[in-house]
Amino acid sequence: MHSLQVTAEPPSNDRGERDSTVGDAPGALQSPASGADHTPLIFDVIIAGCGPTGAMLAAELRLHDVRVLVLEKETEPVSFVRIVGLHIRSLELMAMRGLLDRVLQHGRRRPAGGFFAAIPKPVPKGLDSAYSYLLGIPQPVIEHLLEERATALGAQVRRGCAVAGFEQDDEGVTVELADGEQLRSRYLVGCDGGRSTVRKLLGVGFPGEPSRAETLMGEMEVGVPQEEIAAKVTEIREPHHRFWLRPFDQGVYSVLVPAAGVSDRAEPPTLEDFKQQLRTIAGTDFGVHSPRWLSRFGDATRLAERYRLGRVLLAGDAAHIHPPIGGQGLNLGVQDAFNLGWKLAAQIRGWAPETLLDTYPAERRPVAADVLDNTRAQIELLSTEPGPQAVRRLLTELMDFNEVNRHLMEKITAIGIRYDFGAGPDLLGRRLRDIDVKQGRLYGLLHRGRGLLLDRTERLTVGGWSDRVDYLADPAAELDVPCVLLRPDGHVAWIGDDQRDLDDHLSRWFGKPAD
Ligand SMILES: Cc1cc2nc3c(=O)[nH]c(=O)nc-3n(C[C@H](O)[C@H](O)[C@H](O)COP(=O)(O)OP(=O)(O)OC[C@H]3O[C@@H](n4cnc5c(N)ncnc54)[C@H](O)[C@@H]3O)c2cc1C
Repeated sequence: MHSLQVTAEPPSNDRGERDSTVGDAPGALQSPASGADHTPLIFDVIIAGCGPTGAMLAAELRLHDVRVLVLEKETEPVSFVRIVGLHIRSLELMAMRGLLDRVLQHGRRRPAGGFFAAIPKPVPKGLDSAYSYLLGIPQPVIEHLLEERATALGAQVRRGCAVAGFEQDDEGVTVELADGEQLRSRYLVGCDGGRSTVRKLLGVGFPGEPSRAETLMGEMEVGVPQEEIAAKVTEIREPHHRFWLRPFDQGVYSVLVPAAGVSDRAEPPTLEDFKQQLRTIAGTDFGVHSPRWLSRFGDATRLAERYRLGRVLLAGDAAHIHPPIGGQGLNLGVQDAFNLGWKLAAQIRGWAPETLLDTYPAERRPVAADVLDNTRAQIELLSTEPGPQAVRRLLTELMDFNEVNRHLMEKITAIGIRYDFGAGPDLLGRRLRDIDVKQGRLYGLLHRGRGLLLDRTERLTVGGWSDRVDYLADPAAELDVPCVLLRPDGHVAWIGDDQRDLDDHLSRWFGKPAD
């Protein structure tokens, strides 16, 4: 066993103090002052997995100067293109951290409607966001942008390093890599995908349903004119909802077909598998050729029994998996990271109230359970059986009521989430949409990942919390309440106009005031 030579600042403890027993020189490898393990403690957080969830979490932690190492088992970023849509809430997160303009350069805006069970409906009226669209953007591009941001903020990413084991004690976690190398940090977060090693080693159950139906998806060129394809596809999609053939980019089509009955599950799909399925469904294979990539995915649906055990946490696909219908998985993982980042940073910086870190599983697990349920429902609605087809027809009718359509879109886009912060007005626990404030846009004030008191009364103060919470007095802010306290993730933690009540809530979310 050996330790890794890396550049690192001296460690801080959970109360935010630098550990004076550890050398100040970058890369100094010395033992922690105490602790069951003698592997040097040179990171605050190790993240297993540099997918979208891990990269987002690393960036969030770096906003608070937390020393982060991301371990990624793949030596190169994966080029496998899943066509991913960033939904409204994820676009809002990007806006809150000043990343949206960069993301927009690489994506294509689409209407924010019609993606519940692929039931074609217009965008509902009244979606309450400044970013009411879907951004079509390939997953490798999102991953690249998030990783780039994390490293620009100072996170270290080591590729070709698979987490193979770990042990936790009162002071930290010793992480073992596949080659036997050992590293130590205060916390470990498993963002290592659906087959998560961290989750398995933690012994956390992953109950749910195994995959029942497999689907093939890929990108390829076609050998017939576009008009011919369009007419045929419209005809076939009526009964076959698990099928599409649609133009993607410069003559390349995205193809989705059921996998039932083709080739060995253990083997990667072939172009011949796609041709065979197209012929079965459409009577022609449209002359498909020159595939860019081919993949197969299942519809397994599972939710981790726990998101935290001591100093080890789970986020993203490591904590939940479900079929990609509605395009929610990446969005859900990135939003987990956004919820967890500031809380874990607070724990490490030493100002977290005792229960803050546990609000991560308390808030995010029910959100994932709801996403799992809506994907279960959507999968049923894709069935060609007469019962589900009848339910689909009924729901199609119901979605003509704007309220129904909007409710479903708010669910999928995650802007309908309300965390349980106790009794209070409807806005309490919800995210606040981006609004005009005197300094420009509200989200522009959240780039540093701090809390914010938005005060229309101009009478309140953040007092001893000013090192964690910003203050903006703006009597003209577009709000119909006197004052809101926003958490770093943009959720409304308090509404009111009374200083004493505010101080109680500042303590609840941001710990003790500085002396
Ligand atoms: C066909 C398809 C289409 C999809 N479309 C959408 C969509 O439109 N919208 C959407 O939101 N979601 C979509 N998804 C889901 C989305 O791809 C996933 O939810 C998302 O990738 C989860 O991100 P993650 O970072 O949690 O996990 P992953 O992306 O799985 O990343 C995990 C990372 O951990 C690494 N790793 C694994 N084990 C270890 C280890 N032991 N040590 C170190 N590193 C490790 C992996 O190499 C990987 O880089 C789609 C999925 C599929 C299959």
